[in-house]
Amino acid sequence: MKYEVDQLGFYGRYGGAFIPELLHKNIAELQEQYLQIMNSQNFKRQFNQLLCDYVGRPSPLYFAKRLSEKYQTKIYLKREDLNHTGSHKINNTIGQILLAKYLGKTRIIAETGAGQHGVATATVAALAGLECVVYMGEKDIKRQAPNVARMKMLGATVKPATSGSKTLKDATNEAIRDWINHPNDTYYIIGSVVGPHPYPDMVARFQSVISEEMMQQLAAQTGRDYPDRIIACIGGGSNAAGAYFHFLDNDKVELISVEAGGLGIDTGHSAATSVLGTDGVIHASLTKLMQDEDGQIIEPYSISAGLDYPGIGPLHAHLISKGRTKVLAANDDEAIKAGYELTRLEGIIPALESAHALAALPKIKFKPDEITVVNLSGRGDKDLATYLKFLNE
Ligand SMILES: *Cc1c(COP(=O)(O)O)cnc(C)c1O
Repeated sequence: MKYEVDQLGFYGRYGGAFIPELLHKNIAELQEQYLQIMNSQNFKRQFNQLLCDYVGRPSPLYFAKRLSEKYQTKIYLKREDLNHTGSHKINNTIGQILLAKYLGKTRIIAETGAGQHGVATATVAALAGLECVVYMGEKDIKRQAPNVARMKMLGATVKPATSGSKTLKDATNEAIRDWINHPNDTYYIIGSVVGPHPYPDMVARFQSVISEEMMQQLAAQTGRDYPDRIIACIGGGSNAAGAYFHFLDNDKVELISVEAGGLGIDTGHSAATSVLGTDGVIHASLTKLMQDEDGQIIEPYSISAGLDYPGIGPLHAHLISKGRTKVLAANDDEAIKAGYELTRLEGIIPALESAHALAALPKIKFKPDEITVVNLSGRGDKDLATYLKFLNE
């Protein structure tokens, strides 16, 4: 595979594991064991069983007829919105909780921004009967009350991060501090293709079930096991990595990543990391991130909480630098419009994150016979209040 991570955890010049000395043992344990465990027959059987009976996989590949007519081409939606808990995030947390059990861990920690990864983690911790602590910025706790309530109902302890800007990066720092203090019994579930090696590769592999199913479903529905184009939104980049995984080496498949332009890339209120970012270390890996001259992280902005992240996973930084993926930005207003368009044409309310992927459609020149798959990463129930503010505009 051309875009695989190397022994040290690098994709080209991006990636690695820039960790405090005190975490060395934990990370080394994971690096040495993750592939062996993930590739064992027992693990695969348990993982696939849970994906099937608990998550509800395979998620359908749906031919969106009215949307296709509008854009004069063939558009399919990969329905990750139909998964248990409403997005692709559960594919990864199911994988990591199983891994934690194989490693003999009894306590789970995670950090969350908008709360989506926190909910997916609290869900699988309940399923596995493990103690769960989720770190969340104090500001985010106030902004995301429904997800905080869900995590509490699921039995997780939500701990506020009260330092710095009181948002995601501060929650990440707290989670890493916790891990340092509990190196033996605790497993840290990271929610995207970010963090120190082996997390980006591990999360991409767990999410790769998306492209694996896509191949089979495309073969059955169209007679060819690859599309001409895949479109996915990117925050950290896990749903995109999963949707691209089995097609990375197939140059006939165009890969389009859509990042959040926010109010506009030049407005100072954006999360368009590929354009605004420079090389640096965030969350213990070398990648592209939004930072000032002193290396301080610039707070990102997007109407969509899941894309409001100041970096991108190292795999994506690499894919972009090699020209394998093309990045488009969708601004808040374009995403809202695309969310309404899908809802009115197909009766599917997409997550605001997924609406960014859909917002790429008007920016692309399609041929009538081309097959495009849009990865519909999540459902929009959580975003109704935001959508409704724009109802009569
Ligand atoms: C969290 C989230 C995202 C962004 O995360 P990625 O790691 O970039 O996939 C996208 N869509 C939904 C529905 C999410 O919850």
